[in-house]
Amino acid sequence: MSARKSEISAALASVESRISKAVFAAGRLRSDVKLIVVTKTFPLTDLEICYELGLREFGENRDQEGSVKALELPSDINWHFQGQIQSNKLKSIATWADVVHSIDNFAHASKLSALSTDLGMSSKEVFIQVSLDTNKSDPSSERGGAWPSELATLTEQILELPSLDLIGLMAVAPLNASPDLAFEKLFQISSEIRSDFPTVNRISAGMSNDFEAAILHGATHIRIGSQILGLR
Ligand SMILES: *Cc1c(COP(=O)(O)O)cnc(C)c1O
Repeated sequence: MSARKSEISAALASVESRISKAVFAAGRLRSDVKLIVVTKTFPLTDLEICYELGLREFGENRDQEGSVKALELPSDINWHFQGQIQSNKLKSIATWADVVHSIDNFAHASKLSALSTDLGMSSKEVFIQVSLDTNKSDPSSERGGAWPSELATLTEQILELPSLDLIGLMAVAPLNASPDLAFEKLFQISSEIRSDFPTVNRISAGMSNDFEAAILHGATHIRIGSQILGLR
């Protein structure tokens, strides 16, 4: 095994053991939590190693990078797009991303649905990204996300779109707040949405530094980069 492969393999094993502990502490099942390895900025050789180690869910933030990587790697990988969406990139994103986590307005959703229809793809999975910032002037709110007050309407509208399968809510914990409180709030918001729209029941939350808190608060998709692949 190459030195890099041993390194990634050990890091992955350590993340897996932390996931198992968090899942157990939360009284949940390991199979309820999908691990997405966030491969943005890492070279193809690292992605090949992740593939050899059995990972099949890969996350990217930029179209330019994800589109190239997706072409080079085996087709049984599920590609997750989780970066901020630029409208003019949606056409390309639609071709390679299997799941889009960062939808935060209806214009992007409806464009992505139309593009997926054109490509003959019937149901692209999407999450609505929610902002957990407490006020709009917070600099970290540049990370995007719909406001909780907009969610019910947006959910209802997106569920009408023919080629999207809206499966849940995604969020990033605000920079200067406790992830535990942030993900507790996300779980509450998710429960409210789920009571009106039962199929919108997944939660994409948790990164390298806060995934245990996310698992405790119901995350079904965790997005982990640096803890597996190292510092960017
Ligand atoms: C980069 C990124 C991640 C992974 O972050 P790490 O701290 O490297 O685990 C997860 N989600 C989003 C939206 C990201 O941009």
